[in-house]
Amino acid sequence: MKYLIDKLTSNGSLSKEEWCMLIDRRTSDTAEHLFENARKKREQYYGKDVYIRGLMEFTNYCRNDCLYCGIRKSNANVTRYRLTKEQILACCEAGYSLGFRTFVLQGGEDGYFTDDRMTEIISEIRRKFTDCAITLSMGERSRESYQRFFDAGANRYLLRHETYNYEHYSRLHPENLSAKNRQQCLWDLKEIGYQVGTGFMVGSPYQTTENLAEDMLFLQKLNPQMVGIGPFIPHHDTPFCDFHAGTLELTLFMLGLIRLLIPKVLLPATTALGTIAPNGRELGILAGANVVMPNLSPIDVRKNYTLYDNKICMGTEAAECIEDLTKRMESIGYKIVTVRGDSLNESLGTGHLSKRDRVNIN
Ligand code: SAM
Repeated sequence: MKYLIDKLTSNGSLSKEEWCMLIDRRTSDTAEHLFENARKKREQYYGKDVYIRGLMEFTNYCRNDCLYCGIRKSNANVTRYRLTKEQILACCEAGYSLGFRTFVLQGGEDGYFTDDRMTEIISEIRRKFTDCAITLSMGERSRESYQRFFDAGANRYLLRHETYNYEHYSRLHPENLSAKNRQQCLWDLKEIGYQVGTGFMVGSPYQTTENLAEDMLFLQKLNPQMVGIGPFIPHHDTPFCDFHAGTLELTLFMLGLIRLLIPKVLLPATTALGTIAPNGRELGILAGANVVMPNLSPIDVRKNYTLYDNKICMGTEAAECIEDLTKRMESIGYKIVTVRGDSLNESLGTGHLSKRDRVNIN
């Protein structure tokens, strides 16, 4: 399989059949070869730097009922909260003094945060922290809303596509949500001018190798600035409580493949990766990742933003978290840097793709 890794390294693409073959027939030898190539690419563009993003989980109210997610609407055991504008700004303030230059506002799809309320929050952060990037991750909104947030000063948007395949998507989500709309949101965000992040869970229920191959083809087509992947981890209060978690091994392999597919992409070693293995984030960096996202949310609300069981960093102050991550990164020869850390993968816009191209990746 090494020849496919070499082909991917030099061409930056594979066919669907080749993706399937490479994923299905991977061995520890193939993985080592992959990680070596992925590290080389990553270091070519980003050196040994690891970017940090200050994550603020600003609301756990959600109108959606995604079958895998611990904060889904039907989970009556969640204590719901939302941060006020003042609390969000205080988190930014604290984060700024710790060196964060990117703030990520992530939350459930919460009707309380109307366009007006969000625009006010974004404008205020933009006014106070002119040298910082503002990243939003708040699910599917209308194109008009995305445009208003962008105009107010948001720069980046994270919206995992979750799975490209329509049928697989429908097995993970309630009927009112569709892969088509999710993907359309991503194209809209891109056209507006956001630096766009997408991604998927590894080992989600019913996922096949072919689904993963389709995810890779979709990433190639969308050409995002960021890709967030992490293992699916069951949450005890969801319909997927009895499914197995995705594995560390496959998640690392997919991280390496994504680095070779889009060499300049920003690729986080996610909290979910750190949850399934104590050194998961270090291994993620060694597989080609170059971002970590410590939590800036107030400690007292963190336990209520439980997307999956055993999530790490529930009670650790941001400063302590940074200290811990700094040591972890140093132990593997990498270093945390406190810059804005924009993606070197420039947005190509989508003007060059026909609508048919966008939809059909098979
Ligand atoms: N509501 C926004 C959205 O839909 O993009 C952002 C919040 S959502 C909870 C953030 C991400 O958490 C999702 O895109 C999903 O991939 C991930 N997630 C949710 N439940 C998970 C689970 N059980 N295991 C791993 N990741 C999970």
